[in-house]
Amino acid sequence: MSEFLPTGIQLSYLVAVALFFFGLKKLGSPATARRGNIWAAVGMLIAIVATLLDQHVLSYGMIFVGLVIGSIIGAIMAYKVEMTAMPQMVGLLNGLGGAASAMVAVGEFWRFLATAEAPPLPTTITAVLGVLIGGITFMGSMIAFAKLQGMMSGAPIMFPLQQWVNALLFGGFLVGSIYLCLHPFNLSVFLALVAVSLILGVLFVIPIGGGDMPVVISLLNSFSGLAASAAGFVVMNNLLIIAGALVGASGIILTIIMCKAMNRSLTNVLFAGFGTGSSAVAGGSGGTGDRTVRSIDPEEGAMMLGYARSVVIVPGYGMAVAQAQHSVKELVDQLENQGVEVRYAIHPVAGRMPGHMNVLLAEANVPYPQLYDMDDINPQFEQTDVALVIGANDVVNPAAREDKKSPIYGMPILEVDRAKNTIVIKRSLSTGFAGVDNDLFYKDKTMMMFGSAKDMVSKLVAEVKQL
Ligand code: NDP
Repeated sequence: MSEFLPTGIQLSYLVAVALFFFGLKKLGSPATARRGNIWAAVGMLIAIVATLLDQHVLSYGMIFVGLVIGSIIGAIMAYKVEMTAMPQMVGLLNGLGGAASAMVAVGEFWRFLATAEAPPLPTTITAVLGVLIGGITFMGSMIAFAKLQGMMSGAPIMFPLQQWVNALLFGGFLVGSIYLCLHPFNLSVFLALVAVSLILGVLFVIPIGGGDMPVVISLLNSFSGLAASAAGFVVMNNLLIIAGALVGASGIILTIIMCKAMNRSLTNVLFAGFGTGSSAVAGGSGGTGDRTVRSIDPEEGAMMLGYARSVVIVPGYGMAVAQAQHSVKELVDQLENQGVEVRYAIHPVAGRMPGHMNVLLAEANVPYPQLYDMDDINPQFEQTDVALVIGANDVVNPAAREDKKSPIYGMPILEVDRAKNTIVIKRSLSTGFAGVDNDLFYKDKTMMMFGSAKDMVSKLVAEVKQL
């Protein structure tokens, strides 16, 4: 079909694809990310308009109704969503993308059957692929959403012979697909394939712990791109093929980056049932035992910070939960007024989604140049007077560097224990996502400031003002 499209439409697609590429490139740095987003969005607008001008569009009325309803729902969701709920929102949208791609494949296959015309072999193959990837993406994303939203337990759900059941279903899908290629008029086999793909989606995600869902969502995002690409082949739309491939590639790259930053393999994330206590704590550095910690109050903390020359702030998941970013910015402003040099150290997997800390700090208007990546800030901790850890735990755990038996051994960390002093704000000595006790809390140079991040940082602001 696409070869009959007017050249103008194909040219518009080319412009749209170029904008996607430039947009993606700009998304690579927080400084240019907003512009990149706009470029890609303009590309998408061009792509949509060009597609709507395509003569194959049958009903503009239906498209308009869908556009209005979808835009209203999307705008309300985007406006209302909490930053900490962003992973499940992305998951939900991925899932819908997968469902849309699977439905395009189903619709196209159905259209052939309705005209009693046998679909050509490439159409059957791509339709089956679209159904497989789209179905897994849809149901997998729905389960990921339910786990993150607390609608179902985040604990891995395992049962005997689970992998065998998966393999059997996948094998059945392959056999059914081959049968369908040979006998394309068999609607019941086609529908059975749809059902199997949906079941595979559920089985793929239930054994994965809730904390690992962001990685799974990134992987499913990649799948949704592949499903879109497959749908692009089904309806012979070049733009859909390329855009799908871009999403597929970027999703898998992000998945790999996340796994590397956690020093875990994708297989471990998908099959180890991590983050639920059992696998994480085993082999960890043990309980608190009789070790002691030094705790300080905000007044003492303010003295240390206010009279320091250099301070590095290390935000983590707890800052996100407490929504303390605005108070943190206020504290930094106060310290800078006192002549203290303040920087932020950002770990790639701090929080619960990639770029979590960057987004929160940008929301609080923290200037981007004050944010330092792990590799840039680590060599500077030794010259830092105070490292202020706010709700971070795993990403500053020295066991990752020192304890070969620790489950997080080898994970790159922010080396706050090398600073002259470290203040840690959190509510208790409890573990973080990995379920591993943190040696940092018991070090001589570490002072614990127990309390919720927002409360403690606000108290620090008040105290620093009085210095
Ligand atoms: P952690 O999950 O290791 O620790 C967060 C700490 O925040 C907890 O120990 C908790 O301690 C504290 N906390 C919770 N609520 C509050 C509050 N209101 N005020 C103050 N503190 C609070 O967080 P990190 O950011 O250090 O590490 C992220 C972890 O998540 C890593 O293990 C990473 O691998 C994992 N992960 C990250 C993903 C990503 O993309 N960023 C994706 C998937 C997993 P307490 O209860 O004592 O207050």
